[in-house]
Amino acid sequence: MTITLKCLTCQTEYPADDVRYRCDCGGLLDVHHDLDALRPLVSRGLFDGRLGGAPGPHDVPTTTSGVWRYRELVLPVNAGDIVSRREGNTALYRHPRLSEYTGVTEFFAKHEGENPTGSFKDRGMTVGTTQAKLMGARAVACASTGNTSASLAAYAAMAGMPALVFIPAGKIAAGKLSQALAYGAKTLQIDGDFDDAMTLVEKVCNELGVYLLNSLNPFRLEGQKAIVFEILQGFQWNPPDWIVLPAGNLGNTSAFGKALFEAKELGLIRKLPRIASIQAAGASPFYRSYKTDFREHITVKAETIATAIRIGNPVSYERAIRALEWTDGLVESVTDDEIMDAKAMVDGAGIGCEPASAASVAGTRKLVRAGVIHPDETVVSILTGNLLKDPGATVAYHTGEWENARLANAPVKVAADVDSVRRVIETLI
Ligand SMILES: *Cc1c(COP(=O)(O)O)cnc(C)c1O
Ligand SMILES: [Zn+2]
Repeated sequence: MTITLKCLTCQTEYPADDVRYRCDCGGLLDVHHDLDALRPLVSRGLFDGRLGGAPGPHDVPTTTSGVWRYRELVLPVNAGDIVSRREGNTALYRHPRLSEYTGVTEFFAKHEGENPTGSFKDRGMTVGTTQAKLMGARAVACASTGNTSASLAAYAAMAGMPALVFIPAGKIAAGKLSQALAYGAKTLQIDGDFDDAMTLVEKVCNELGVYLLNSLNPFRLEGQKAIVFEILQGFQWNPPDWIVLPAGNLGNTSAFGKALFEAKELGLIRKLPRIASIQAAGASPFYRSYKTDFREHITVKAETIATAIRIGNPVSYERAIRALEWTDGLVESVTDDEIMDAKAMVDGAGIGCEPASAASVAGTRKLVRAGVIHPDETVVSILTGNLLKDPGATVAYHTGEWENARLANAPVKVAADVDSVRRVIETLI
């Protein structure tokens, strides 16, 4: 099965092994599958037949990985060439308190923080590094708010390739920075914000023959489509009404739209869920553009506690607009207080996530209150990253540093004697 790189803007096609991230016209590229040729080859049964099995010594990623299980729809490649850490297979949680909080009985949280390096970025990175290896790249690189660099560092190490990560100085959560350093990536701290780092990495990679694995890279988005395939399969191919996700650089929004479009075209599903992309109010260029019906392409100087979506000039802008068109989708924005309270709810339910992830829960709640999502609809929200990614934000919220923390669970100071401890415990339970 052959794939090509196809321009969103002018439809020009390029060979899939061209090292390029944009069309000559400047447009974004898609990995283009020949859906007519694929249709007779894929079915619900094919993918269902690959499920299950405990991890064993002879695991092959084409069955055990929640990305490569759908390889026909992702990247046609030989099993031996795949760089995989058994990504995906993430849980779909429900909890009465989260249903109550969002106002939706059938509320589910798909926990992408359960991926190997703790975020959904692994789904894209397994595909991106596999492609880099196939093309004989000399090194791989990305600019990142944190999770992409953590993931790139791990997968590059697995593949035995040098990794370069560009991060905005001082604006990256501790968990993420520690991962990039620990996995051995060469880490460049840029004296600027994420958008500056992004511009620099794109320039330098082209000059130095380093393969760029930002979400600009269309192969990463193919892997991220598997989040949707897993959701659809988890619901026995009866899609939920809504998929709600945090939106920063808009790679995931774009990937979700493409996955749903292709799944429908291939006859795997009959109806499309609606996508709701949620931005942080202080980093909401896509929301603001949406409010002008995309007549204006707005960029901002981004500021939010949710560092993973602190992005003012999203790379996948046009792809994300297309995703909304395909799925009758919409965009909403939520404040940092709403994000942190929603995070406290998710954390307190025993599930846990990083701040950006909770935007999807806060957004669901807001859309239900606005009457856009109905209480009897089925909603899957995406928890994009793990609780342990950003311990600083969590501790600040619970210890009084976060001003409007409505759900703070502050530690209790107590003298070191049994009576005091006994008295305090009586007030706590
Ligand atoms: C990358 C990331 C996002 C944003 O996804 P985009 O594809 O850039 O819109 C949200 N949450 C977490 C935890 C992330 O790592
Ligand atoms: Zn073009």
